[in-house]
Amino acid sequence: MAECPFCRIVQGTVPSKKVYEDDRTFAFEDVNPQAPTHVLVVPKKHISGLKEATAEDSQLIGHCYVVAAEIASNRKITDYRTVCNVGPRAGQSVFHLHIHLLGGRDLAWPPG
Ligand code: AMP
Ligand code: ZN
Repeated sequence: MAECPFCRIVQGTVPSKKVYEDDRTFAFEDVNPQAPTHVLVVPKKHISGLKEATAEDSQLIGHCYVVAAEIASNRKITDYRTVCNVGPRAGQSVFHLHIHLLGGRDLAWPPG
């Protein structure tokens, strides 16, 4: 999707601090970090959000979570949170499915 900011990051037409890339996923530093580690993992395929995901996206989305876990492991972070905000009232502001990986500090529960 030409006007999607995360598709642009995946394509390299918008710069990002790349953390990881494979054939199906791309991970980069969040521009407005909320924790010492705040990485976004996105599928290269444009999916607007979890609501729009279909059964055929199951493996891809599962892979995004495994990539997030590997990034945490590489950074020696043992306790972290993975978050997928769904819809504006839950904080989703970019409509390309993404997993936040937050770590490196204590994380309160419940979230706001
Ligand atoms: P959400 O609010 O769950 O949709 O998350 C969107 C996240 O994307 C926010 O944490 C933003 O700080 C982050 N973000 C938006 N634009 C960029 C960008 N160009 N590069 C890196 N992170 C971004
Ligand atoms: Zn997109």
